[in-house]
Amino acid sequence: MTDLHELYQELILDHGRRPRNFGKLQEANRSAEGYNPLCGDKVKVYVKLDNDVVKDVRFEGSGCAISTASASIMTETLKGKTRSQAEYLFETFHDLVTGKAAKLDAPDLGKLEAFSGVSEFPIRVKCATLGWHTLRAALAGNGELVSTE
Ligand code: ZN
Repeated sequence: MTDLHELYQELILDHGRRPRNFGKLQEANRSAEGYNPLCGDKVKVYVKLDNDVVKDVRFEGSGCAISTASASIMTETLKGKTRSQAEYLFETFHDLVTGKAAKLDAPDLGKLEAFSGVSEFPIRVKCATLGWHTLRAALAGNGELVSTE
């Protein structure tokens, strides 16, 4: 289990350093901005939603490794998912990082499981969920600034 834990941390560091799907999405028809004043993380999420399916999703912003890696892995995970699947993943991920769900109860999370350790650091939960809250706002179609506060 220790090895797995290290692997997961490596995954977070890797995505924090080299975020995937980073940058503006020109064809986006949904977007929202998020801010986590506790840490100073800022993110903007762009979504191309087509018939309730996330055709493409990208993000930009600046923040700590956890917030950047979380948004990066989120974008990888969500491509091709329906809006309800995205909502389900949000709920499951949120339960995972807040410690409401044990790791084994969340078999569908894939790489997102890397963030299970965040539940031990409550101050980091907002970093890990910022991208997701912002995505949710983008899907809901309100372009307002989301704050984790
Ligand atoms: Zn942060």
